[in-house]
Amino acid sequence: MTDPTSQANYTEIATEHVLFKWTIDFANQIIAGTATHDLRISKNDVGEVIFDTADLDIESVEVEGKSASYEVKPKHPIMGSALHINLPSGLKSGSLIKATIKYQTTKECTALQWLAKEQTQGKSFPYLFSQCQPIYARAMAPVQDSPSVKIKYSAEVISVLPALMSAIRQSPPSDGPAHDGKVIGKDAVTYVYHQPIPIPSYLIAIAAGNVVYRPFPRHPGKEWTCGIWSEPELIEAAYWEFSEDTARFLASAEEIVVPYRFGVYDLLVLPPSFPYGGMENACLTFLTPTLLAGDRTLVDVIAHELTHSWFGNGVTHANASHFWLNEGWTTYIERLLLQVIHTPADRGFSFIIGYKGLQDDLEMYVDRPKYQRLVIDFEKGEDPDDAYSGVPYDKGANLILHLERTIGGLDVFLPYVRDYVSTFMGKSITTQEWKSHLYGYYEKHGGAGKIKALDSIDWDAWFYGEGLQLPVKMEYDSSLAESAYKLAERWDSSRAVEISKLSFHESDLDNFSSTQKVVFLERLQSYKPLPSSHVEHLASLYKVSSTHNAEIRLRFYQFCLADPSSPVALKYAAQAADWVIGGGTGMVVGRMKFCRDVFRAVYKVDKDLAVNAFQKEKNAFHPIARKLIEKDLKLLS
Ligand SMILES: [Zn+2]
Repeated sequence: MTDPTSQANYTEIATEHVLFKWTIDFANQIIAGTATHDLRISKNDVGEVIFDTADLDIESVEVEGKSASYEVKPKHPIMGSALHINLPSGLKSGSLIKATIKYQTTKECTALQWLAKEQTQGKSFPYLFSQCQPIYARAMAPVQDSPSVKIKYSAEVISVLPALMSAIRQSPPSDGPAHDGKVIGKDAVTYVYHQPIPIPSYLIAIAAGNVVYRPFPRHPGKEWTCGIWSEPELIEAAYWEFSEDTARFLASAEEIVVPYRFGVYDLLVLPPSFPYGGMENACLTFLTPTLLAGDRTLVDVIAHELTHSWFGNGVTHANASHFWLNEGWTTYIERLLLQVIHTPADRGFSFIIGYKGLQDDLEMYVDRPKYQRLVIDFEKGEDPDDAYSGVPYDKGANLILHLERTIGGLDVFLPYVRDYVSTFMGKSITTQEWKSHLYGYYEKHGGAGKIKALDSIDWDAWFYGEGLQLPVKMEYDSSLAESAYKLAERWDSSRAVEISKLSFHESDLDNFSSTQKVVFLERLQSYKPLPSSHVEHLASLYKVSSTHNAEIRLRFYQFCLADPSSPVALKYAAQAADWVIGGGTGMVVGRMKFCRDVFRAVYKVDKDLAVNAFQKEKNAFHPIARKLIEKDLKLLS
């Protein structure tokens, strides 16, 4: 079965290596240059190679150094325009052929966001960054844009601002003077990168802006290095937030699975319009600045992103239908790392928080139950972003946790995890291949008893089940959640009491971590909405509407907008909308977890308010976020 989101003929001929020669033109907001593919033929007389492209201007094509005929097919709204290149006849299976495409990007390229200098911390230089997952690599370069195709790449990028890519930097050195000592914003420098490990196209990434580097201390006994990139204005805060934990998490993950293969694990803190919490681009995880909470409480995102080095970047889902293999496994291991580095209670706590998000997302899809499934049967050309939610993450992680418990706990489960990763490292697999290996492993290591245990799992319900419930009622260690639950319960039972007679205090939250505050506010949402007077009282007492911690602020807005017709919802809807559009600064809160949820909640209170706020700053959002918010607000079908 081929990838439902790609038009490429990668089963007949596939890229092994691609060389990008690019020039970044900040003034005209284009990347122009060439992509040279080394293609391995797997079908005799293949006749043509088909690449995915979207909104690229193709200028010319050469095959083996000679001008070649090609055709750009009409644009499919989701899959883009297939680029067909004719190949000489008589090509033999097993041989290699080279194709070079000269092209440039356009304003419509969804993968790229070009920021004006006002939208950066420093306000002095523009900024460019890419987001290729799930299917936008084709809007940056002509590629066979399926995770089933794993490619090495090299890049030579000419830029007047420091340029970073998801690969090993060859020159100039990362720890040398910024921009090779040349004038930033003026002098062109050639940045050379090489990614020697085959990766799926969605991990190709570029960022360019006024960024500086600070290495983290070397982890004893490790060959790999870690460090952080950001604009100079944020580098202190970013270094402080992540320098303690990053290498420690990476070393702990190596204990669970196999050694880290990519040599370099760097972080890049992006401007606030970055649409995700993190993106696990190879060698260089991209991060939202909303993680800079100042208390190191949001490092679970780092644990998540670095875990992708094995689950996703190492063992990759074959196509969008099996995306849960990346995210479910990664979320499961991320939480196991929390248990290893902190306590078992931290793992349980993380599952509790995830469960609330899962419930919300399953509810969001009541009218499209297909997307409540773990394994989704996409039609050819269906948009995988329509299915993007917490389902693959949390339903997936719960399935793996259930599996761990069913098979007899971590002692018998972790050796299997190591075997799974070793077996499929470097490959792209389907859910069926995953399950076959699982059965095969326990046939060898455990026999009939373990197979019986595996057979007791209702696989169909986990893979294809719809609705709001998991197939099994899951129990989690809730010790870290108890105090939050108790406080929420007190508020719930106070709903009939007059405000002047309430006995809540500012100090109620004194001993709460920021995550416990999140759980408290989420727990409140599980009750009937409180009267507006009580919500106002809570807001003024706990100062949750002005906190800089975006996780807490999101939950507060969700809590007070829960009853869309209440006076308090009307009041805070405007504030919530203003928060995500950046309050006139142009610095939107572009992380979709925050802005999409807020826009959806505001929309239920006041459609016009939501739409007008969005329209005002819509160009400041990343093209992917913009598209999905437009769908949420019914501006786009
Ligand atoms: Zn992930």
